[in-house]
Amino acid sequence: MSEAAVIDGKAFSARLREKVASEVSRIKSESSVTPGLAVVLVGDDPASRVYVGSKAKQTVEAGMESFEHRYNDDIDEATLLDLIDQLNNDKTVNGILVQLPLPDQIDEQKVLSAIDPDKDVDGFHTTNVGRLWTGGESLVPCTPFGCSLMLKDYLGNLSGKNAIIIGRSNIVGKPMAALLLAESCTVTIAHSRTDDLPGKCREADIVVAAVGRPEMVKGDWIKPGATVIDVGINRVDAPEKGLKDDGSPKTKLVGDVDYAGAAAVAGAITPVPGGVGPMTIACLLRNTVVACCRQNGLPDPDL
Ligand code: NAD
Repeated sequence: MSEAAVIDGKAFSARLREKVASEVSRIKSESSVTPGLAVVLVGDDPASRVYVGSKAKQTVEAGMESFEHRYNDDIDEATLLDLIDQLNNDKTVNGILVQLPLPDQIDEQKVLSAIDPDKDVDGFHTTNVGRLWTGGESLVPCTPFGCSLMLKDYLGNLSGKNAIIIGRSNIVGKPMAALLLAESCTVTIAHSRTDDLPGKCREADIVVAAVGRPEMVKGDWIKPGATVIDVGINRVDAPEKGLKDDGSPKTKLVGDVDYAGAAAVAGAITPVPGGVGPMTIACLLRNTVVACCRQNGLPDPDL
């Protein structure tokens, strides 16, 4: 059997960002509205700083307004809730994203619930979760939405396909299941207590791995010709790359799937890095434009 096709998330996300930018320029010229995204960052976690920086940069590159709100990690909950209230009432802000995790003194769920569901571009508010599962007009979490776009682009009609999602988090696994169910897949949600996970995987036409365990899904778990979407991002030691200045091994990113083993069997697979990862911010920009259109009584953009 030949090597799997590579589903190139970097190229796909670049095309989506271009489409977002052209929708933004159309909206600006037709309605004089500029979509705006507010990102709230608490503390100085280096990974969160990098994510927020990339989000702001790509927001501006797409022609939108970016508003950044940075706080020290000793901020109290009331101050953060006040900010959310201001952003909810600010007409120039169409999307609000609170970068997680938040420090211990702040109730994350309380903050996420305070966001106006129509501005909840992360799609984590229970109102959007409910709308997603009941087929309503929702804002959908960015990472699983990006996975579903890539699957539909690569496979076309997903109806009737057997899909297994490994992982049941609120951020990835559960919304992914809702999206694939809406596409009329037969969906299995697997997790840490699932019995005979390899056997269940082997029945699937579509495998979505969202576990957070490096290279857990092996090639012999994959049905020949299946499509594999690897959401995992895991940093592991890579002694083959040599040593850092402090004598410790250099590192690399790997997914939840043993790429070489799975690529030898699958029909198509997303790489890590360069697969699902780049789609997440592109979908955040897309959600912001969708939110802006809905808030201004404009038709949903074709994104
Ligand atoms: P999580 O820790 O919230 O959930 C992991 C899930 O995996 C849990 O539901 C758990 O039941 C399941 N699990 C754990 N061990 C298992 C096992 N041995 N067998 C089967 N299932 C098992 O993680 P998450 O937030 O859903 O993220 C999952 C992975 O996706 C992580 O590597 C994360 O970094 C990555 N991620 C990537 C993006 C992106 O933009 N590409 C976005 C979000 C998360």
